[in-house]
Formats: sequence, structure tokens, C-alpha cells
Amino acid sequence: MKKTKYIVILGSIMSGLGKGILTASLLKILSLRDIKVLPLKFDGYLNVDCGTMNPFRHGEVFVLKDGSEVDMDFGEYERFLGKDLDGRSSLTGGKIFKAIIEKERRGDFLGEDVQFIPHLTEYIKEHIKRFSKEEDLDVLIIEVGGTVGDIENGYFIEAMRQLSSEEEVLFIQLTYLPKLKGQLKTKPTQHANKLIQSMGIKPSIIIARSNKNMEEEVRKKIALFCNVKEKDIYDDLEMENIYELPLFLEDQGIFDSINSFLKLNAKTPDWTNWKKRIENMKKSKEDVNIGIIGKYTKVSDAYVSIEEALRHSSAELSIKTKWKFIESSGLNEKSLDEFDAIIIPGGFGKRGVEGKINAIKYARENEIPLLGICLGMQLMIVEYARNVVGIDANSLEFDKNTEHDVITLLPEQRSITKKGATMRLGDYEMEIEENTLLKEVYKEKKVFERHRHRYEVNPKYVEVLKKHGLVISAYHKGIVEAVEYRNRKGIGVQSHPELNSKFEKPAKLFVWLVKEALKNKRIKEGLLHKEKQG
Ligand code: GLN
Repeated sequence: MKKTKYIVILGSIMSGLGKGILTASLLKILSLRDIKVLPLKFDGYLNVDCGTMNPFRHGEVFVLKDGSEVDMDFGEYERFLGKDLDGRSSLTGGKIFKAIIEKERRGDFLGEDVQFIPHLTEYIKEHIKRFSKEEDLDVLIIEVGGTVGDIENGYFIEAMRQLSSEEEVLFIQLTYLPKLKGQLKTKPTQHANKLIQSMGIKPSIIIARSNKNMEEEVRKKIALFCNVKEKDIYDDLEMENIYELPLFLEDQGIFDSINSFLKLNAKTPDWTNWKKRIENMKKSKEDVNIGIIGKYTKVSDAYVSIEEALRHSSAELSIKTKWKFIESSGLNEKSLDEFDAIIIPGGFGKRGVEGKINAIKYARENEIPLLGICLGMQLMIVEYARNVVGIDANSLEFDKNTEHDVITLLPEQRSITKKGATMRLGDYEMEIEENTLLKEVYKEKKVFERHRHRYEVNPKYVEVLKKHGLVISAYHKGIVEAVEYRNRKGIGVQSHPELNSKFEKPAKLFVWLVKEALKNKRIKEGLLHKEKQG
């Protein structure tokens, strides 16, 4: 049995410094050396999970294969690490309090006052140690959500202090160096460092976010005031491409610092594949333009996984992939002509749905490559039923009295009213039909993709849809999982393939879409050329 070592990442001064990407980068730096490493993230909010959060406020809800609804940072971890995580990696304030209160009600603490210390802190440490043991980890990287000094994460940081007297723990302070009159200022970092030390914790490595490399004297100052060696202070600059951050840190020698504290057993890392993909993104000559028709288009983080899956495909194919968000409410179909392909992403609620349906109709009739994801697939079916089958169809989600509920709740779901309880979450198998485009894309008969939805294709309408030419390309135990158009230009899936996309292993459906986009662009250019000549 190994003895797991711990790296704890604390954010200081302000939020939004990119703790998630930093954690993801360190995961990659370690795992590439054959060090068995996983992340754990603590989020201070009192929601038990992210399932009930609004994408307008909180960005995308990420779903793990076991159905856990977690913070967006988990997407970064998985995409960098190239591994699937599960719910054990996520601790939230809500989860911790719920567990403690349930224990109290069960009488587990009979006769005691239940307190932050030791009850909450013990619970946290036990969870962390159990998880590390179950996975037989060399290193667990713990990202503490929020900023040092917040009320919400104070007890968790206290648990980390306690952990450091029981186990080998390396603390990393992520900080920010503001620039004033061309100079990077270190005072906020000094103050934040004092605050951390007042909690009984001494960071051994400081990583400083700023918009230029720090000069020698800045480094010296931080070292002097913060009790760290100059060699253990690192620059963290805004990267044009986030996948370059691990290389940027690697080149500064961050692993040597980590290793001087934790003494790990490390192989020589091989970055060839990673670098090749970054190079592919830079050198690509071809470009495509993809339209994403959604309703959370004003929130930059609402569709992160889709954007990343497009970046991964771009790195795989060496095709520059640009995309633009189009608000579905009040959509003008003609404006779709600028796109080489279209994505209709997942979503909840009625707003903007008719605009998406119009976009789908336009894409289908004009043979614009189309990928419908979750709600996107459901609307592909509604559109087909209305405009090809010729029935007045809708999803039960948007019209409780619709005559033709082609998208509906299955009988076993109807009696459940508790929030979230009827959701189909996490991995389900797609059983892919032979002789379909989907089979060509996946090259496999059975694949797992992640789900997050409540409504399903109504089995009553499958035959009539098929009779009118819609291809059902995958099922899960008889329920429709995917559809496609006979013209091979449109695929809709009930799952979220973007959640499975990794930098070094892109989601196949996105690779397909980007390839189709380029084909379509060439056709359009050919036509234009002909028109000009004619
Ligand atoms: N609102 C739809 C449902 O609940 C689709 C959900 C989604 O796109 N994630 O089934």
C-alpha cells in the first residue's frame, strides 16, 4: 500500500485566477511521469451538488460518468488528465453539512456537541484519506474553491492544516501580481501570504498570475516576504491556448520544485503528442465557422465543454475552428448562411425553442451539417414530425396539452415530483444500429456517453418517423438514443458527447462535424466560384 502525498492549492487575493486550469495542468505534469494522481475539489457553497444551479450564474453544469453533477473545473481536470473522474472527487459545503447532520440525526454523536472542529474537519480528512486509499494514489491534488479569507472555505482550510500534521502535504499559493505604472506589485501577495500563515499553513510554492514575466527583483521580494525560495516561485501568464499552460510551467521547472518537497518516483515525461496537437492548432491553414444556436449565449461559460470539444477536434484535424453563439429567440434563419456547420446544444425551458426548430429546418433543407445535442436532438424530432410527417407535434416539456408529444415523459417518470429525481444522469450505453452514419463515426457498436435529461423520445412515434425517412441510429434498451438524416448531414444524440471529449482524445461526433463543415465550406466556395464564372 502506497502512502499518498497531498498537494493543496489555495487561491489568494481574488477569484478568477484560473485555479482549475492550474490544477488540471499539474495533474498532467504529474501523470505524464507515471505518478498516480487524481484531483479533489472543494466548493464552499451549500448546494449539495451543481444540479440545481443556473447556467446564467454559474456556467455549465458538468456531469461525470457516475451521474454526479459537478463544477465546471471537473471538465478541465478530465480534459487535461485524459481520465474519467467520479463523484468522490467532489466535496461541497452542502454535501459535508448534509452528511454531518444525517449522522447527528442517526445518533452517531450521541452526547456530544457537534462542532466544526473536530466533527466537520474529521469528516473531510476521512473522506480524503479513504478516497486516496481506494485509488491507491501517489498524489492527490486538492483544489480549494474560493479565495483564502472567505467564510465559506475556512473550515476546509483548517482541515487541510490538520492534514498537514498527519500526512505529507505541499501547499501552493496561487496569487496575482497587479501592474501599476508598468511595475508588478507584490504587496497584495505578501498580505495574502500572511493571512495564510496566520491559519497555520506555510505555502512552499507560489504561482503568480500576471500579464508579464516577473523581474528578478519582484521574485526576490516575494521570496523575502513570503518565506519561500526564489526557485519555488513561478509565473502563470494568460495563455492564448489553455493547453499550453502545462508546458509553460514545465519549462520553468515546476516539477523539480514539487519533487524537492514530495520526493516522488518519477519517469521522464513524453510531451510529444501534447505538443503535436498544439502545433496542429497553430499551423492549420484551413478554417471553418460553426454556429452554436443557444439560449445562454450571453454567458461565456455556459457551453464550455462544447467549445473545448471543438478545440480538441481542431487539434486533431489541424483545421482552425471558429464558432459564434447565436441567440435562438428571434433568430433569422438567413443569418445561418455564414456558418459551415451548426450545433444545437442542450437546454431546459421553453424560451428560444421555436428559433432552434427554425434553425434545424433550415439546416435540414439546405444540407448544412448539423449536430443536435440532447435538447437539440429532441427538437430535431419535433421539427421532423411537424414538417416532414406533418403532425402538430411538440415536446411535453413545452406544451403540456400537445396532441402529439413526440418527446415525452415515460410512464414510470410521471409520478416523481422531487427536483432532479426524474433526471437521467451519467453514463448510459448507446447501442448503435448497423449501416448508419453514427456507426461510421464511432466505429463501435456500443459506446457510453453521458446524459442529463428528463424527457425521452416517445416510442409511440418511432415507426411513423422511420416511415417518413428519419433514421434511428441508436437505442438504449428500446429508447431512442440517436437519430440521423438520410442525407448524412445531420446527427442528433440524446447524450452529451462533449462531456467526454479530451484534449488528446476528442469526441468523435465533433471531429465528424468539423470535417463535414470543411467539406461544406468547399462546396459553398465551389458554387461561388461557378457563379462568378457563369
Ligand atoms: N430539457 C430536455 C430534457 O430535460 C433536454 C435536456 C438537455 O438538453 N440537457 O429532457
